[in-house]
Amino acid sequence: MASASPPSNFNCLPNCGVCCNLVSFHPMGFDSLFDRIQRDPIKFLYTKDGVWPITEDLTCCFLSKEKLCAIYESRPPICVLFGTIPKHGCPFLFPDGKPRSEKQRDKLLQEQEEHVKRLRENIKEYQERYRL
Ligand code: SF4
Ligand code: SF4
Repeated sequence: MASASPPSNFNCLPNCGVCCNLVSFHPMGFDSLFDRIQRDPIKFLYTKDGVWPITEDLTCCFLSKEKLCAIYESRPPICVLFGTIPKHGCPFLFPDGKPRSEKQRDKLLQEQEEHVKRLRENIKEYQERYRL
């Protein structure tokens, strides 16, 4: 995610950030990252997975205008791993860094869109359930 370079030949496309949607952060470490926020969250949800900074368009609050990660060295493990494991495939690159076909790219982008849609629904449901 966002120019991450996980431990493999995988290197993100420059200034991409396409997969940088909402992620959760450990509440203990999150405070120290606060001054590096790039997009104002509209609220913070606290769940068993950690703190979720919710932005209007569900883009990660640490993604800069230039599509770079503002907390690159401290980004969550999922961001380090993203693209390198089948469960979290990059729409553009294989785990070995080779480019995907257009067909695969479109399929994965579509899946990502659906993921964001589900996130939006889950957040809404969570807020309604806990009256947040
Ligand atoms: S979509 Fe792929 S290339 Fe772009 S930031 Fe995410 S993992 Fe990197
Ligand atoms: S923490 Fe960084 S790499 Fe992870 S989603 Fe946010 S901007 Fe992208």
